[in-house]
Amino acid sequence: MDSKEIRKKFEDSIFCYAKLGGQGFVHKNDCFCGKDKSCQAFKDYQRFHERFNELNRQYDGEMNIIGIIQILKPEFENSQWWKDNIKE
Ligand SMILES: [Zn+2]
Repeated sequence: MDSKEIRKKFEDSIFCYAKLGGQGFVHKNDCFCGKDKSCQAFKDYQRFHERFNELNRQYDGEMNIIGIIQILKPEFENSQWWKDNIKE
């Protein structure tokens, strides 16, 4: 790929929270989250990080990532984003 092709590819890419198999870059036509990121996947992503930080503070850093994930799991029972992105 020359630099023009790379730039074109970059311009056509968008970070998609709803990407199946895990969030990441996709062609902009393949992301349906919208510019305001109104998709459920982004909401779940934000909620996860908020809750993760809350629990981390609550346990004063004494709980490891795996422990926190186990606590949060029931809250994200119906989340496709969780299924695609959280490796238990
Ligand atoms: Zn998307």
